[in-house]
Amino acid sequence: MFLSPKLIVFIVCLTNLSILTQADDFSFNPSQSFDPDFFIESNLEFTLLHELAHAVIELYDIPVLGGQEQAADQVALMLLLTDQRHKGVLRPVTLNKLLAISGEWFLEWQAEMKQNQAVYWDAHPLTIQRFYDVTCLAYGSNPDILESLRKEKWLPVERAWNCDLEYKKTRQALAWLTKKVSHYQLDENWNFVKKNKPPQGFTGQVKIVWVEPTRQSHKDMAKKLKNFKSLKYLVAQTNEVLNLKEDITIYMEPYCKGPDAWWNGEQNIITVCYELAELFEKNAALLPGLINEGLPE
Ligand SMILES: [Zn+2]
Repeated sequence: MFLSPKLIVFIVCLTNLSILTQADDFSFNPSQSFDPDFFIESNLEFTLLHELAHAVIELYDIPVLGGQEQAADQVALMLLLTDQRHKGVLRPVTLNKLLAISGEWFLEWQAEMKQNQAVYWDAHPLTIQRFYDVTCLAYGSNPDILESLRKEKWLPVERAWNCDLEYKKTRQALAWLTKKVSHYQLDENWNFVKKNKPPQGFTGQVKIVWVEPTRQSHKDMAKKLKNFKSLKYLVAQTNEVLNLKEDITIYMEPYCKGPDAWWNGEQNIITVCYELAELFEKNAALLPGLINEGLPE
């Protein structure tokens, strides 16, 4: 494999970013993404945004070009990049989230390669493609600040060349989608601004149901997940911005066959397996090794 030096470079680039962004009100520490709770929380946040994007696409019968899985990934990533908590500015915490998410995909790809289990026929892009897609959208959002990523070839120049256009097009698509599904709109500064009252009859809400686990490890995991602030923020923000006719229930499910999450459009249910959070926990422990030691050439 050839990517590990690039991951190392990414960390170096991110470290330099604190100088480049010149922000006084935070200090950037890439090792935040090594923190198991931060790693799990970031990946869980992305997972839920991805599944909610599926829900919106189906409930609103949104036409999709280029594949629904890619569309759901792009919506989730754009929402992270334009997180109102950071006023639409690419902040170190956002970069750490992206590092946690792209790191997860890289580690999943590494495991798939080791076990010879890469699924080429799946509706999802390969995890290694999702890894590059995150980088491209992040780079495209702020090519000036993130120029070092391209210079250091962490993002191959052939892909980096059009990432600003990819970002611009994706941003246009999200602005269009927002008009369809929300009484908020995205302004020129990329903030959600309330334009109208919610339309009548759109009283649906997103809620989380914690299915009671029996295993102690799942009970411990439930306790951890319930404390994640981003989970509470995501539900509150979705309920504020998204116009829904029907409720969507997110089931945190301890009785799955494997690490998974999915949207069920017949029942308006999103299921997130505890096993998925456990996979994130396992990979959080592998991320520092991946970055510090690299992969075999
Ligand atoms: Zn999906």
